[in-house]
Amino acid sequence: MGSHVIVEGIDLDLDELQIMPGLVNAHDHLHFSLFPRLGLGPYENATEWARDIYHPDREPVRSHLAVPKSLRLIWGGLRNLLAGVTTVCHHDEYHPAFDSGFPIRVVKRFGWAHSLAFTEDVRGRFETTPADQPFIIHLAEGTDADAAGEIFKLHELGALTERTVVVHAVGLTAEGWDLLRRAGAAAVWCPRSNLFTVGRTLPRQVIDSGVRIALGTDSSLTSEGDFLDEIQFAKSMTACARKIAIQGAHDVLRTPKHRGDWIATRRFGEAPELVVIDGEIRLISPKLAKYLPQSVCECFHRIQVEDRPAVLVRWDVPALLEETSRYLNPIRLAGRLVCGAGCHPAAGC
Ligand SMILES: [Zn+2]
Ligand SMILES: [Zn+2]
Repeated sequence: MGSHVIVEGIDLDLDELQIMPGLVNAHDHLHFSLFPRLGLGPYENATEWARDIYHPDREPVRSHLAVPKSLRLIWGGLRNLLAGVTTVCHHDEYHPAFDSGFPIRVVKRFGWAHSLAFTEDVRGRFETTPADQPFIIHLAEGTDADAAGEIFKLHELGALTERTVVVHAVGLTAEGWDLLRRAGAAAVWCPRSNLFTVGRTLPRQVIDSGVRIALGTDSSLTSEGDFLDEIQFAKSMTACARKIAIQGAHDVLRTPKHRGDWIATRRFGEAPELVVIDGEIRLISPKLAKYLPQSVCECFHRIQVEDRPAVLVRWDVPALLEETSRYLNPIRLAGRLVCGAGCHPAAGC
């Protein structure tokens, strides 16, 4: 028994593992991935949350901001890679680091604004987004009247179309959902972030209503753990979790499905034993690593995050740990302890 695949010319026996397309995290802010969750919610809306937590001169924000952004972005890439995410949408400026051997793919072709509350010229940002690209904005991240009203404001600005992707949408009323659906717009669902920040998330009826929807973690400022945690939550709410976590996101973000991006795992929603991006192995379990020739194995390094199995990733983890521990010790990735900080991780193969 066993199903064999050839990757990079290497014959791997995947045995009982299932092969599936790489997962797509439709919403993250990669540079916050080492931060703990901040805030004592639930808040009525995200503006209230942001005012409460943004104190760059105080701990723990100060010491986390001292970590160079390039390092924090890499940790964000690894947070996603370890969960089997092959493509992430980073809701911020595209960073040059994403083009030079970043751990995973980062969506490049989209326009965005932060939100109606924190972006001055939302209409301008929408209008300068190329016509074939999605326009992504945080919206209705709250449970009060302000949050409920934002979709109507966006519509008045002319920025609610079939290209529009609203992140969160928790505060939408039935009329708001109706407007979104008529516009052909889509939503990104970040359930665990929503529960932390505003105390509730999208109702089951909305998720199963046929509205175009993708799944996101959001940043570590509001969600601990990783995309697999979101999938577990999504599975408890809907039978469509798998569709939302893969095909839904490609549709919402208008990203191509790359045939060279795939994962192998025991079951959808479990930690991957193999992650392949653009035909190249980026993550492999110690069990599968025994098939790697020595010359390839040397490119991989062990990493383990609390509550997840140890894996090997194609990244210089020892150097990353050493650099990062000059600023933070211990190192936590989205709230979970990174094993290897303080010890000497070896590739183990
Ligand atoms: Zn966000
Ligand atoms: Zn260790």
